[in-house]
Amino acid sequence: MAAQHPGRLAVQAVRGLSPYVPGKPIAELERELGLAGIVKLASNENPHGASAQALQAMRAALDEIWLYPDGSCHALKQALSAQLGVGADCLTIGNGSNELLMLLAEAFLGSDCSAVYAQYGFAIYPLVIAATGARAIEVPALGRDSAMPLGHDLTAMAAAVGGHTRLVFIANPDNPTGTWAAPAPLKRFLERAPASTLVVLDEAYFEYGRECGTEDGVPWLPEHPNLVILRTFSKAYGLAGARVGYAISHPEVADVLNRLRPAFNVNSLAQAGALAALADQEHVRRAVAQSLRERERLEAGLRRLGLWSAPSAANFVLVQVGEQAPQVFQRLLQQGIIVRPVGGYGLHDCLRISVGLPAQNERLLATLARTL
Ligand SMILES: *Cc1c(COP(=O)(O)O)cnc(C)c1O
Repeated sequence: MAAQHPGRLAVQAVRGLSPYVPGKPIAELERELGLAGIVKLASNENPHGASAQALQAMRAALDEIWLYPDGSCHALKQALSAQLGVGADCLTIGNGSNELLMLLAEAFLGSDCSAVYAQYGFAIYPLVIAATGARAIEVPALGRDSAMPLGHDLTAMAAAVGGHTRLVFIANPDNPTGTWAAPAPLKRFLERAPASTLVVLDEAYFEYGRECGTEDGVPWLPEHPNLVILRTFSKAYGLAGARVGYAISHPEVADVLNRLRPAFNVNSLAQAGALAALADQEHVRRAVAQSLRERERLEAGLRRLGLWSAPSAANFVLVQVGEQAPQVFQRLLQQGIIVRPVGGYGLHDCLRISVGLPAQNERLLATLARTL
């Protein structure tokens, strides 16, 4: 049997996984439709692109591509350490924060443990939990009529944490909802969390959320050795293709992740790009400010179409288009606009739309108006 079905040889927890479904790539839709000028508003990338300095640094790094990268990411850690005001020994650099989520699960979960995350939390959380055989505890989100519709219910999440819970995942702001946690309840959550549970605060949209008053978790680290903060260069820094993310944690957690990670997990072009991107804060500020202005225009445009959207502190909007959401997604695709279906999250009547450049958002709104 095994000879015909070698996939069945995988361990049980892995056989049961459903793959992550990414946003449709532009090139794929171009091939299917045979047309150019595709607009991708599906993966929350920075439509302004990467900093010119980051691109230049990556081109320069090509000359040394025959050498192994610095496995310790020394220069990038030093720069992050200075920017964040934490020791370099608190940092772990990952092949995107996705890799850090995997490493955290691998290091801290086993079949005798559980992990807690919120309904409508990031799709990668249940995936990395399931791969370890740990029990996944999904806590219902706040209702659509609450003060933070579809947001994390931190009180219920705290109540769901048990003696065997080793990880709690909190995305702030959350993807795919865009919702966020107010600082005080988040701090209370941390204070209530048992020392035997690591709280993973995923701040992938930190640079956008900061403008809306979401908390910077870093100052909480000295008091909370069980706090792990994740950030990424994939969103506001415009380096999604380079795959660089980082964890800020107690040095002992960093040490565990460091032992487990592949020796050369972050390639040399990515390290050079991230380092230069970090130095060009002006590029990030400009891109974030523009995206937030555009998000407001997008939200207003959706309202004019009579559509409800969840409150967002990020560079995307979750919009309720009704039961025909899959058809709306298809019709947008046929007109060269890629958005993100979120039926996989149980949000069958919604679509997630990343904030694009002004002309892209206008095209989206005009196409949506004709489609509905
Ligand atoms: C995009 C995203 C990430 C990060 O992705 P990487 O590209 O792997 O760094 C992490 N968490 C959330 C909630 C995200 O939306």
